[in-house]
Amino acid sequence: MEEKIARLILEGGRVFALTGAGISTESGIPDFRSPGTGLWEKVDPLQYSTAQVLQKEPEKFWRFGFTRFKSLLGAMPNRGHYALARLEDMGLLTGLITQNIDNLHYLAGSRRLFEIHGHIRTCRCTRCPARYEFAELLEQLGKDIIPPLCAGCSRPLRPDIVLFGDAMAEDYSLACAELAKGCDLMLVVGSSLTVYPAANLPQMARKLVVINLQPTPYDYRAAVTVNAPAGEVLSRVAEICETKAK
Ligand code: NAD
Ligand code: ZN
Repeated sequence: MEEKIARLILEGGRVFALTGAGISTESGIPDFRSPGTGLWEKVDPLQYSTAQVLQKEPEKFWRFGFTRFKSLLGAMPNRGHYALARLEDMGLLTGLITQNIDNLHYLAGSRRLFEIHGHIRTCRCTRCPARYEFAELLEQLGKDIIPPLCAGCSRPLRPDIVLFGDAMAEDYSLACAELAKGCDLMLVVGSSLTVYPAANLPQMARKLVVINLQPTPYDYRAAVTVNAPAGEVLSRVAEICETKAK
């Protein structure tokens, strides 16, 4: 399977990856929908971390909903993230679109990156255009300032994350524009492909590869489907590409 995926990548053209929570489970971050370990089996994010809770019940958001985002801060990229960064370095990956907010692709070195659900590097003011490091939130929360406030205009700050009920991040339209220029191959990695509008993106690809532990709604039209851990599969694929590209 890995040989076949590498061959498809080496055929060239515009190759994109679309990743979801499943690429980060090997970094110790639970996904939402894996049976047994998925977050939604424990707490329902819809109860604590929606745009509506942020606005109407700030105490609940910042004391409970925010804990999940804070818990992502110590995580490190795994071999799946590094393999995708290597493919980009080799000139084989045109762009990497991720639904993840955990910053792990960025830490692994991916730069043609579209974080369509935002990320945990920064936060922003809900009123003025000011942006701050994500750490600003932690600092103010540490002093029990709820909600954290903008130093410029004293209005509430918020994480640069797309919460349920928010509009998509600007990266989403940028990613769509990139895909519209042509997408010969899309590697879907670790996504249940059930969260919209992200789940529409594979429709823009001529060919699809799906690397996911569980079946997805797009398997029927994929050139290759692999139900195995993403880190293992991607590092092998990158290795084969490296050897063959020489
Ligand atoms: P999802 O939870 O709906 O699906 C994850 C998929 O990954 C599952 O189908 C599972 O079978 C598969 N998977 C788990 N471990 C894997 C592995 N090691 N190798 C290959 N596949 C594996 O996730 P989603 O489709 O990304 O949608 C969830 C939403 O929640 C997204 O919008 C995302 O922004 C957010 N989320 C983000 C993070 C994060 O930033 N790491 C974590 C949880 C949820
Ligand atoms: Zn402000």
